[in-house]
Amino acid sequence: SIYLDYQATTPLDPRVFTVMQPYFTRVFGNPASRGHDYGREAAEAVNGAREAVARMIGGSPLGLVFTSGATEANNLALKGLFEQHRDRARHFVSCRTEHPAVLDVLAHLVERGAEVTWLEPDRSGHIDPDELRRAIRPDTLAVSLMYANNETGVVHDVAAIGAITRDAGVFFHCDATQAAGKLPLDVGETGIDLLTFSGHKIYGPKGIGALYAGRSRPRVRLVSQMHGGGHERGFRSGTLNVPAIVGLAAALDLAENEREREAALLKKQREALLHRLRAADVAFQINGDPVAGLPGCLNLRFVGVDGAALQQAVPRLAFSRGSACSSAVPTPSKVLLAMGLGAIEAGESLRLSLGRFTSDAEVETAAELLIEAVCRLRDAPDHAAT
Ligand code: PMP
Repeated sequence: SIYLDYQATTPLDPRVFTVMQPYFTRVFGNPASRGHDYGREAAEAVNGAREAVARMIGGSPLGLVFTSGATEANNLALKGLFEQHRDRARHFVSCRTEHPAVLDVLAHLVERGAEVTWLEPDRSGHIDPDELRRAIRPDTLAVSLMYANNETGVVHDVAAIGAITRDAGVFFHCDATQAAGKLPLDVGETGIDLLTFSGHKIYGPKGIGALYAGRSRPRVRLVSQMHGGGHERGFRSGTLNVPAIVGLAAALDLAENEREREAALLKKQREALLHRLRAADVAFQINGDPVAGLPGCLNLRFVGVDGAALQQAVPRLAFSRGSACSSAVPTPSKVLLAMGLGAIEAGESLRLSLGRFTSDAEVETAAELLIEAVCRLRDAPDHAAT
């Protein structure tokens, strides 16, 4: 089968695996055991990874906290901020196109006295900077807006958001899980105060991610969400996952080195796919912004064809119809509904995401299979009922 779900997760790049291997067996020490070489060697590997990751995102190693993934990093960022500052400010600004790892944390905080203003995205998934400016209040604590959307690939203008939040003196939390390694990322240049990302979206291991909480004014202070031995400067206790941390740094390094070349290739493949679909005249629409969006991501709606039926009709293609994290529940995509699509339109949509190991031949075959299945489903006698 053909894997077109790189935004759900990616395979570990074999080069990353090679870098990680010694840390499972030979260099097994606990980096907190500073009293002997086993521990010191592991600590050195973690320090090297921390410095490399910090350099690649334009931040200081002191601001980096390794976590189990972007979900945990988002939890630490938002709950940590709220618990630290709730007496002074408890209002957030965000958007309903965010990942559940932000939406559900904010919902949890609302139950504990937080307030959220939800920005209205337009039909292409973009937010209006003026609306953001107007939404910020004297009691606003933070703006939480992602860099690139996991379902549509829509990219927010993080530099503009950073400038607005900086002027207003509120924190900017940015979930960059889909953007890290794929789009330029510099916390200083963009004014991001709290940045989160994950290993398994960038050909690194699963179960590792990071929160960068940088130097900003006012200074970011957080309440830890995981208490114990005081690891990660007290922000996240627990013995460090050394192989995964080394793997995260290696994966980000590879992605950064190959970012522009890979983006150009993916854009070409996405264009080829679109070209084939257009030539076949199968009525479809693109959800989001196909030009400025994340390279390799395509959220499509085949008019009048149910997405679940289409998925069943092409078992050779591995793709998603929404976020992998919420597709256990068969409801229409919240992201697409927030962008103004109706429930039926959202139900007709699917996400194809190409990546590092996608071949031109696979793109060609995928297009053929989709065209064939769409035509077959439209011709089916019970089609009118779907
Ligand atoms: N945020 C976004 C935008 C994502 O795409 C994902 C992964 N689906 C996450 C957060 C959660 O990341 P993790 O799997 O590392 O917890």
